[in-house]
Amino acid sequence: MNNLFTNWSYLIRFLRPRPYASYKDLSNVKLSWTTFRSFTMTTNSGSLFKFIDIGSNLSDPMYRGIYNGTQKHEPDLEIVLQRAKENHVEKIMVTGTSLEDSESSINLAKTNPMLYATVGVHPTRCLEFENYENEGEQLISTLLQLIRDENDHAKDGGKVVAIGEIGLDYDRLNFCPKDIQLKYFEKQLDLVESTKLPLFLHNRAAANDLYDILKRNNDRLYGGVVHSFDGTMEEANLFLSLGFYIGLNGCSLKTEDNLKVVKELPADKIMIETDAPWCEIKATHASNKFIKTTFPSKKKEKHDISCHVKGRNEPANIVQVFEVVAGVRGLSSEEELVSFANQIYENTEKVFF
Ligand SMILES: [Zn+2]
Repeated sequence: MNNLFTNWSYLIRFLRPRPYASYKDLSNVKLSWTTFRSFTMTTNSGSLFKFIDIGSNLSDPMYRGIYNGTQKHEPDLEIVLQRAKENHVEKIMVTGTSLEDSESSINLAKTNPMLYATVGVHPTRCLEFENYENEGEQLISTLLQLIRDENDHAKDGGKVVAIGEIGLDYDRLNFCPKDIQLKYFEKQLDLVESTKLPLFLHNRAAANDLYDILKRNNDRLYGGVVHSFDGTMEEANLFLSLGFYIGLNGCSLKTEDNLKVVKELPADKIMIETDAPWCEIKATHASNKFIKTTFPSKKKEKHDISCHVKGRNEPANIVQVFEVVAGVRGLSSEEELVSFANQIYENTEKVFF
């Protein structure tokens, strides 16, 4: 793979102009972000790579230039989406994590044909249910109404494509105790029953409990994905046995043990995501050695629309997740790569679109 990509990029470096990056900016990067793009445009098969980012938190203030409450640069979501498009991202699912955030995700999705939204309350936010009447039922009906208002009248089925992200997070019990997480995760499955939408699931150190709840409710569910998966193969097999898919992002690819799991997953059960602005692949991660495409970046204080913001992940980086997952699985020929990308795309289409 090294040769294939490197040779192409070397050639293309001299043949193609770079729409965003200046030559100066790229002087110290391995390969420019145009590498992958140019490579894909020249496939003999004529097939283009295409990606769906199943998890991106685009309503995060960072895309409005706000970091920890301080404005650091101009809002740049449009540029971020433009870069995604140029890197073959065709669709992005904007993650909803609370009632308010789900509303923002839907509103954002309505502004761009490539965007879709999920609706749900994240396990770390489940204390919010306690502020509502009738053991949280009032919040469940508000979430359901939000979905219906969007989807029921839309000709194309509407922007809400999944219930999520919901699930369990035992790494962050300080935000929400276990009993509350368990109670309201299962309660939110009522939303699935009412809407017939698939699930976008969050799991951190809670695989067995998540599996138990999914298993006893599975006859009223419509499948879905366990996103940001970082568990063992045994845990992956639990979810696979119930028909669920496995979502991979930079946080799923940090260690050699993670990569062993990625190698073993069935190709027809894999989806990919960025979890932007989080979970970018770092130099210290085991995955880093498989990356072929890099992008010029600058600190948020030195914001430059031709560069990514250092430390802020974005959907264009899905190409890196793909390169790692494909590389770990030993895929290197153009044909293998295109076919694997298409497989992942089809997996995602089948469940969410
Ligand atoms: Zn998550």
